[in-house]
Amino acid sequence: MQQDKSSAQTNTDPLDLVIAGGGMAGSMLAYVLLSQNPALKLAIVEQSSDSEPSKASFDSRSIALAHGSVELLQQWGLWQDLQQSGCAIKHIHISDRGHFGKTYLNAADHQLTALGQVIEVEAIGEVLWQKLKAFTTQGRLSWFYSDAIAALNPTAELQHISLKSGAQLQSKLLVIAEGGLSPSRTLAGFELKSDDYQQHALIANIGLSDSHQHKAFERFTPTGPLALLPLTRQRYSLVWTLTPEQAEHHLNQPDHEFLAALQQAAGHRAGVFKTVGQRVVYPLSLKRATEAARHRTVLLGNSLHNLHPIAGQGFNLAIRDIYSLSLLLQKHQADAGSYALTKAYQQARLPDMQQVILYTDSLVRLFSNSSRLMALGRNTGLFALNLCPDLKQAVANQAMGLNSIRQLKALLT
Ligand SMILES: Cc1cc2nc3c(=O)[nH]c(=O)nc-3n(C[C@H](O)[C@H](O)[C@H](O)COP(=O)(O)OP(=O)(O)OC[C@H]3O[C@@H](n4cnc5c(N)ncnc54)[C@H](O)[C@@H]3O)c2cc1C
Repeated sequence: MQQDKSSAQTNTDPLDLVIAGGGMAGSMLAYVLLSQNPALKLAIVEQSSDSEPSKASFDSRSIALAHGSVELLQQWGLWQDLQQSGCAIKHIHISDRGHFGKTYLNAADHQLTALGQVIEVEAIGEVLWQKLKAFTTQGRLSWFYSDAIAALNPTAELQHISLKSGAQLQSKLLVIAEGGLSPSRTLAGFELKSDDYQQHALIANIGLSDSHQHKAFERFTPTGPLALLPLTRQRYSLVWTLTPEQAEHHLNQPDHEFLAALQQAAGHRAGVFKTVGQRVVYPLSLKRATEAARHRTVLLGNSLHNLHPIAGQGFNLAIRDIYSLSLLLQKHQADAGSYALTKAYQQARLPDMQQVILYTDSLVRLFSNSSRLMALGRNTGLFALNLCPDLKQAVANQAMGLNSIRQLKALLT
């Protein structure tokens, strides 16, 4: 699809927002803000070309959206177009390979029809792409494709942004949504904490001989956690945490050998694996910025928090970043980059992000450790979850993202 080429020129009037990075987080933010605020004008700077949704972001992976995130997508008018591509998670089965501990979460126990939904990110890209076209045509959204920020010169009232193409933009607020490797985050002076997990995630879609019955499986294996998420058309989306060497080995195995190795690691409870789609490997690390906002600048999505994918929390957190900014913009319409807005964004995002990081990081470390003592501890934990409904409810709430959304609404409205 060809976007409005007239946008590829210097913008003289100050914009309300410039978003650096038109991937999942950046383009969803643009859609949400433009659909809620008819007077808003913004630009997206995206390093990839203008022919399709950014392949750097909308690739072959699938993601699990928590129940709370799906509610927000419904509220924003997105889920109506996405639901045909989504597959409901009705049950989650958590176990430790070779040990006694296991637990189940069921949507019905929480008076819900689904704990979350699994969706291929390409489907999200297509829907956002179509919806953003309308705003481009109306002249409220300008795209700067195959471009990137070269320099930032903030003044009291504005961010002055120089692009590599030579274009100059002025904006009340700069939102950096360039993913985990964001160069503009460094340009804007943000500091980053980074831990390498020394693990890789192998992802692929797995075809099944029978229906998965909307069950998701989280299994803890000696190499690290393995997740199978129910997908449409009798498939699972696999996220398999492995050492870099094992990931390389499984990436290059013939399909039948790969499926046999996966079946052995996952067990038979998840069904019989028949086919495997394209396999892709991602190195895993935990990266988080120490601040969410600086003068007339905020971080969004993976530029703010880049997590291990095992608990499926990264984009759910990004959806709450978007929700926070959308609530704050309704309060501070006159100046999208005011100190009051950036300060409130920071106060809203850091505690939520730290809680999710603690939850995800503890899961990874606890369940990637093969020592007997750790195995006993986590199996006792899984066993205790089954016996203690309050504890189970707390885990389910975290997985569904419900508490965090309620807290944000109370804090920001
Ligand atoms: C294997 C795997 C499984 C996952 N599963 C889940 C899950 O189940 N649930 C969940 O919630 N999350 C999941 N996640 C996390 C989720 O994919 C991320 O949270 C999401 O991709 C973040 O989107 P983003 O837009 O912030 O970053 P990205 O997707 O990295 O997009 C960044 C965009 O910025 C552009 N860009 C980069 N640099 C520049 C620059 N200098 N200038 C201009 N543009 C630039 C890129 O081209 C891209 O379009 C998973 C991640 C992985 C790796």
